[in-house]
Formats: sequence, C-alpha cells, structure tokens
Amino acid sequence: LKGSTEGMSATDKEIERALRPLSFEDFTGQAKTLENLEVFVRAAMQRGEALDHVLLHGPPGLGKTTLSHIISNELNANIKMTSGPVLDKPSDLAGLLTNLQPNDVLFIDEIHRLNPIVEEYLYSAMEDYKIDIMLDSGPNARTVQIKLNPFTLIGATTRAGMLTSPLRARFGISCRLEYYDAKLLTTIVQRSAAILGTPIDESGAYEIARRSRGTPRIANNLLRRTRDFAQVKGNGYINVEIAEIALSALEVDQNGLDEMDNRILTTIIEKFKGGPVGLSTIATACGEESETIEEVYEPFLIQEGFLKRTSRGREATERAYIHLGIVPNFRTGE
Ligand code: ADP
Repeated sequence: LKGSTEGMSATDKEIERALRPLSFEDFTGQAKTLENLEVFVRAAMQRGEALDHVLLHGPPGLGKTTLSHIISNELNANIKMTSGPVLDKPSDLAGLLTNLQPNDVLFIDEIHRLNPIVEEYLYSAMEDYKIDIMLDSGPNARTVQIKLNPFTLIGATTRAGMLTSPLRARFGISCRLEYYDAKLLTTIVQRSAAILGTPIDESGAYEIARRSRGTPRIANNLLRRTRDFAQVKGNGYINVEIAEIALSALEVDQNGLDEMDNRILTTIIEKFKGGPVGLSTIATACGEESETIEEVYEPFLIQEGFLKRTSRGREATERAYIHLGIVPNFRTGE
C-alpha cells in the first residue's frame, strides 16, 4: 500500500524511525485527539491502572503507529508490536499476552484483518484479562484458564467499518486521525529536515507540505527525495525552486495528486463518462486493487472534492474536470 511501510528499504525504515516523535509534546496536529489521550493516560497513571483499550483509525501514514509508541512511552510501559494478519492461531496471541508486564501495551496493526478465531480469544483477554487455552485434543482435551496482567490493547486500522461490532465495543477509547493541513505539515517537514540536518527555507517546506496528500509519511518521503535533488542538482539547500523540480520529477502535481490519483480520475472521466461507476470496475481499469483505492486514494480525493461517492458508485466532480483540463461532454450536450 502506498503510504504504508511495505516495500521500504532498511535505511528508509531506519530514517522513518528517527523521524518519529517520541512524546505528546513532540507530536504535531490531531489536537483534539491528543488532548483527550493525554487526559486518559494521566488518569490511568494516577490510578495505577492499565489504560483502557484504544482504537486508532484513519488512512495510512497519519501517525497511528507513532501515537501508539508515544502512549506507551508516556505510560512508562513496554510495547509489543504485531499485526492482524500475522496472528495466525490463538496460541500466537496467547504467547504475546502471557508475556506482558502489568499495564504494558500490545499494539495490533491492521486489526480488521484478524483471524475470527483469534479475535474471539481477544474478547476475554480484553474484557477480563483472561484467556482459555485448550490443552491436548481428542478425549484428553481440556481447557485451562490463564490470568493475564492488566494491559492496554491498541488496535490500528485503516478500515474502522470492517471491524466486527463485538470487537469495536471492547475499545473504551476510539480516535479517528484526520488528514493534516499544509500548515501542520510544514512544521513536520521543518522538524524532519532539522533531524536530517538538511537546510530548508519556509517556502520550500510549505511547497513539499501542501503537495503531500495531507500525510506526514508522504511529506517525510518527499522531503528525503527533495533532499537528494538539492544535493545533486543544487547546493544542498531546499528552497521552493528545488522543491518544484523534485516534485515534478516525482510526478506529484500542483494539487499534490500523484500518478495513480490522476489515473483514477482520468479513467472515471474518459472511460466511464465521469461516472457513477463501481469501485471494482475502476480498480480493474486502473490496474490497482479495490482495497488500495478505497483505503489509500479515495479518502483523499473525496476530502479534496475531486471525487464523490454516491449509492450508484463513484463520480468525478467538476473540480476533477477542471484539474485535468477536460471539458465535460454532458454539460455541452454532446
Ligand atoms: P500509520 O501508523 O498511521 O500508518 P505512522 O505512525 O507509521 O503512520 O507514521 C508515518 C511516519 O510519519 C512516521 O515516520 C512519523 O515520523 C511520521 N509522522 C506521523 N505523524 C506525525 C506527526 N504528527 N508529527 C510528526 N511526524 C509524524
């Protein structure tokens, strides 16, 4: 998935870690969510209890993993990381849960992709800090109940709608992360540039920020690629000119839409008369998976007013036509 860590090199991942804010104070944006989380964390600490389970949802790259680390730091707790698809069997989950110290954090990324049997196990763990483990099979089969230390589950998902309701109901705290505006992203780009030791002026940072699809991970990636251009084609300093050269070389357009965003819009307009057209039809025509279009591309295109979701499918908006410089046929009566 674009905006996810898949396909990143080891160096990329290392840099991503280095750029990660470590405390609430260091984290930019998501003000309301942060304010609430700080209260809940402080209250749990004062009572010496585990923080209630937290569900973080929103598009990839907005800071769900980062926030989970911050929460565990602020709780002075350890964090164990795993993800839905990795937890194959209940015993995988049991292994993790039984190793948690009191008030530790277990982070499950892509929690909407949990195996239903594993999910079932999670219920009693979340609710009563207990799990039932099956010993032996056949006539000797018996279950033993294991008591767990109190812990906090932090689940992250790009698809809150795909969570089963019993699972969702077990999260006492649920936070939706929003896309960042250009001003916040400018601050993030400036902070990252300082960590990387790259000189950058404000308009250079703003140019990268406003073309980053509202996403810190993309802003950091574009910053690093722009840094390469500044080093090779300039004098190492990032200003608006270098940013423009880099972004157009990377096929990020003036509105911050990338090649796939534009392909989706062009396809809807040129092949399907602007829509409405179904998601899977768009996906096939664009050579991309429906899931990726729905989780990664569409939310931003909708938020920016390029795309509309109707009961009959997806429709390109007037802004999409203007953006692509296409005159809508239906409006001219052709
Ligand atoms: P998610 O888990 O939602 O996909 P991550 O937490 O992995 O996103 O964040 C992706 C990258 O973006 C991280 O390297 C992190 O440094 C950066 N990032 C995310 N949110 C912020 C923020 N609010 N301030 C600064 N950097 C951020």
